[in-house]
Amino acid sequence: MSETQLRTDVVLGVTITARDARGRIARLGPVVDAVLANHGYPPLIEKLLAEALTLTALLGALLKDPQGQMTLQAQTQGGIVDLMVCDFRAGELRGYVRFDRERLADASMNPALKELFGDGYLAITFDQPNAERYQGIVPLEGKDLAEAAQSYFAQSEQIPSIVRLAAEKRDGHWSAGGLLFQHLPEGEEGRDRLHTRLDHPDWPHVAILAGSVKAEELTDPGLPLDDLIWRLFHEEEEIRTLPAVALGKGCRCDPDYVRSVIRRFPEDERAEMVGDDGLIRVDCAFCSSSFAFPPSEVA
Ligand SMILES: [Zn+2]
Repeated sequence: MSETQLRTDVVLGVTITARDARGRIARLGPVVDAVLANHGYPPLIEKLLAEALTLTALLGALLKDPQGQMTLQAQTQGGIVDLMVCDFRAGELRGYVRFDRERLADASMNPALKELFGDGYLAITFDQPNAERYQGIVPLEGKDLAEAAQSYFAQSEQIPSIVRLAAEKRDGHWSAGGLLFQHLPEGEEGRDRLHTRLDHPDWPHVAILAGSVKAEELTDPGLPLDDLIWRLFHEEEEIRTLPAVALGKGCRCDPDYVRSVIRRFPEDERAEMVGDDGLIRVDCAFCSSSFAFPPSEVA
């Protein structure tokens, strides 16, 4: 990938073998605008989803199988946000948020997770072909999604990790960025973890360097990700980068699938779905695409 391609809508993998550490660094621009385009969310929800999509890209880039899927879902109770779902497959991202507009209007400027999600949980699911589905769940606590993701790795996987996320709107366009670094007993990719010492002597060093990243460095579309990695870790003996993965907006809703879902409803329920115009209409929550079928097509 050329230097320009390492600026935005991309996630890059990094290993620091001598420190038994691996990382992922991502920056998202046009892909965030594209996902948000059909939703018409207020700024605070846009920022939340921009950060969630960035986290989704970082976690998705941990999948070993290129056809694997990673889903991030916030299940909440009593919060302003009722549901947030993002997923990743082969660099394709999508996501949406369901929330209470009235309560959001009364929210503070920088609401902590508790205010947004109430008694919420973050569920992270890895689906890979030929592997068992893996899901971890942690409470949505802390100041932001990055903190919640860190507790996910600490509690659910016992992997010391550091996560940073940032998103800002510049001249009407979103730019978001994030990094994830973790300690693995064998720094190489793809090796199964047998045991992790949470107090590994090399880990605090990596965590301090990765944690020194500034929000404006993460979101600056003029700063290529490999340059940023170099800026953070240039004193290390050896840093390896993995092939970068381009990110784009993708939705897997398709008319055939929607038809098959409607057909599974009993006849009387299908009859109730018919609108005044004689058609059954279904909207995709992810991309807001609208589908309309004559009842005969889904009988
Ligand atoms: Zn869709």
